[in-house]
Amino acid sequence: MDYAILGGGVLGLVSALRLAQGGERVTVYEREPVAGGLAAGFQIDDAWLEKFYHHIFRTDRGIIRLIDELGLADRLRWPRPATVTRWGGRTYRLDSPLTVLRFPPLTFPQRVRMAAALAFLKVAPAAPLEGKLAAAWIRRWMGEEAYRVVWEPLLRGKFGATREAIALPWFWARVHDRTTELGYLRGGFQYVYDRLVERITALGGEVRLGVAVEEVRRAADGGLIVRTAEGERRFDRAISTLPPRLLCRLVPDLTDEYRARYDWGQAYGAHCLILALDRPLTDSYWMNVNDAGFPFLALVEHTNYMPTGDYGGRHLLYLGNYRPMDDPLFRTSKEAIVAEFLPHLARINPDFSPAWVTASWSFAAPYAQPIVTTDYREHIPPFDTSLPGLYEASMFQVYPHDRGQNYSVLLAEELAEKLLAAR
Ligand SMILES: Cc1cc2nc3c(=O)[nH]c(=O)nc-3n(C[C@H](O)[C@H](O)[C@H](O)COP(=O)(O)OP(=O)(O)OC[C@H]3O[C@@H](n4cnc5c(N)ncnc54)[C@H](O)[C@@H]3O)c2cc1C
Repeated sequence: MDYAILGGGVLGLVSALRLAQGGERVTVYEREPVAGGLAAGFQIDDAWLEKFYHHIFRTDRGIIRLIDELGLADRLRWPRPATVTRWGGRTYRLDSPLTVLRFPPLTFPQRVRMAAALAFLKVAPAAPLEGKLAAAWIRRWMGEEAYRVVWEPLLRGKFGATREAIALPWFWARVHDRTTELGYLRGGFQYVYDRLVERITALGGEVRLGVAVEEVRRAADGGLIVRTAEGERRFDRAISTLPPRLLCRLVPDLTDEYRARYDWGQAYGAHCLILALDRPLTDSYWMNVNDAGFPFLALVEHTNYMPTGDYGGRHLLYLGNYRPMDDPLFRTSKEAIVAEFLPHLARINPDFSPAWVTASWSFAAPYAQPIVTTDYREHIPPFDTSLPGLYEASMFQVYPHDRGQNYSVLLAEELAEKLLAAR
């Protein structure tokens, strides 16, 4: 069979690798000039840095296995970097049961209550939590104050105005899957994506970078026609790893029933301003910025996690946001964003001076975070679309786990196995 694969992120590349290993012919079309999708990096000297901060958990067994298979296990590091919360103008470590029990902004009974609810989520299965709302559950079981100080700012940062509608199973997964050791591929996760491209190519597959798919339609002989700027090409089958909403725009032959159910839901875009500094700003890796009035929700100091020596001695800092895709942030110039964000760094480290900044980068991506409401599950498409031969496998089908490289690997392998088994 001749397969077209739409999208050269982890899902598209792993689908292509598994199908090629099974003897199928694959062509991956990726709109961007580099492979890796949301996890792709850009080059700083000899290293790659993700455009959006990335790490993995010990529970991410699919991507850990893949890293091993690709011969990259020697690059995988598992530090235990500090995760802190900014509240009331101060910074507190908050990344383990002990630090919860010592968290000064809450009274001791409030801390015990929060620790007990988190322990419950760590061990409980997700199924009984189905249909419940995260915000309401947190308020009820962790208390109003824990919600106000710790969780409401996080839900607001990630889901904005939709935060009250987020499904509890999604929150369960965030707690359940998390580990205090965080895995990173020294030199950048881009190594995974470049190695995947090499392996696919070595098996006779093609990866067309910088080529966007413009349309997929039914061919007269029962195959599929894929149109790109390079022209039209016939395939036996196609796999889309694009968000269902984008797939619906590209495929005129999908039925109205399919569209009514799966051309559905909201997603937020992601934005990261990355700064290179000539010295450290903080001594933590990850800071949840829970205080009001900051224009970013997370401050991620990557070089308090990986050595500065990997990046020519630069100290690298992400200032991250999730916003509705029509938010003005996505239309603002990097210079204007830098001018808006920099004064807030002095609130975190009073010694900070803009003269510390030696370089900056601004990255944005649409469809970066599905809004996982309680009815989300009913609108998750199956692999089979309404157009025979066209399959959908995207991070929007990951539930209740938070989307991540690991879950795209698992989804890709599940679909490839199903397709190979049905030959
Ligand atoms: C801010 C942020 C932080 C994250 N942090 C982590 C983390 O710490 N750990 C982790 O594991 N995961 C993290 N993730 C999630 C992770 O990046 C994704 O889950 C994963 O990369 C999804 O891969 P994918 O292949 O499923 O989708 P995508 O990466 O979205 O791939 C889809 C691809 O399709 C391409 N495309 C779109 N339209 C077309 C078209 N018409 N033709 C051809 N190609 C097209 C896109 O360019 C893209 O490359 C984070 C994501 C964000 C945004």
